[in-house]
Amino acid sequence: MQSFRLGRILGIPVGVSSSWFIIFILITISFSTQFAGLHPDWTRAQHLAFGIATSLLFFASVLLHELGHSVVALHYGIPVKSITLFIFGGVAQIAREPGRPAHEFNIALAGPLTSAALGTFFYTVGFLTRFNLEGVSSLGEWLGSINFALALFNLIPGFPLDGGRVLRAVVWKFTGSFERATNIAAGSGQLFAYGFIVFGGWKALTGDFFGGLWIGFIGWFLLNAAQTSTAQVSFRRALKGVTAGDVMAHEYLRVPGSLSVAELVEHHLLRSGARCALITDGERFRGLLTLHEIKKVPREDWESTSLQSIMVPEESLVKVGAGTSVSQVLQVMIEGNIGQVPVVEEGRLLGIVGRDRLLALVETRLELKA
Ligand SMILES: [Zn+2]
Repeated sequence: MQSFRLGRILGIPVGVSSSWFIIFILITISFSTQFAGLHPDWTRAQHLAFGIATSLLFFASVLLHELGHSVVALHYGIPVKSITLFIFGGVAQIAREPGRPAHEFNIALAGPLTSAALGTFFYTVGFLTRFNLEGVSSLGEWLGSINFALALFNLIPGFPLDGGRVLRAVVWKFTGSFERATNIAAGSGQLFAYGFIVFGGWKALTGDFFGGLWIGFIGWFLLNAAQTSTAQVSFRRALKGVTAGDVMAHEYLRVPGSLSVAELVEHHLLRSGARCALITDGERFRGLLTLHEIKKVPREDWESTSLQSIMVPEESLVKVGAGTSVSQVLQVMIEGNIGQVPVVEEGRLLGIVGRDRLLALVETRLELKA
């Protein structure tokens, strides 16, 4: 999904997805219309101004909800990669799953608690200004109820909603199994998702077409998310107990760094179809070269360019040890968006793990163990 960076808060990149702009406009129009109905004495400019202000404060509230999760995650030493606002709200992307049920519980609960606190704040503002500042009071009441609605909606006990994560933390604590907990929480998430779809469909057919459609969409979105998390768990289960050393390929192209690009292409890549070469100096591993680096060199310079001058040097490569679990290797690949990871021990190259290799492994294991 295309997303636009807004800046950083607490060191976390914050952005909005392109879908967000659509929802921002729709919500602004909706708020302005509500204000027009409630305060017919205002001018149209006032309706619009309050509509925009409510919209902005609404999204600021969603952002604060996500920051609530993020602050607790950071407290437990889990990095937060980004916060993105999109059509259905916000998402704080944490770098990895919490390692303990209590951590998951607290991270999940921090969001709804933030929303409830914001709700109380806005209601108080609305209450205090009710006699002298009609507009502000109206706005405070709106945002108060929106934030409480946000807290309650997120507490629905179906994964991936916050309530589902709380449920997962509790089941995890009592069963000791993260997998089982995820499956139960995701199952409950699917149940609620179907509930939303049915309810939305019913509403759409009985008069409230757009409201119903919207609820149906939320259900569909939740259903997808719940199914994805179940799939991720079975993926992780399929990879359990396998290490980089088990799955790494030993047959890879290794060449000395003094070779020219032309020689590599002519004699190796074009003959074997290999897409990457490992640069070694005797037993020592020096670096890695993929088609990506080669294509950056103009063709007329291939003769005169040595591999070591364009390779990604060993020091700046992401590497793993033979004992690294395959799920961790996969995580590294996803995080760095890389297709292959060298397996290195004490500077010696043992092999290389490629994404295709991992996928083949998952397929085999799912087929034979299912
Ligand atoms: Zn949340």
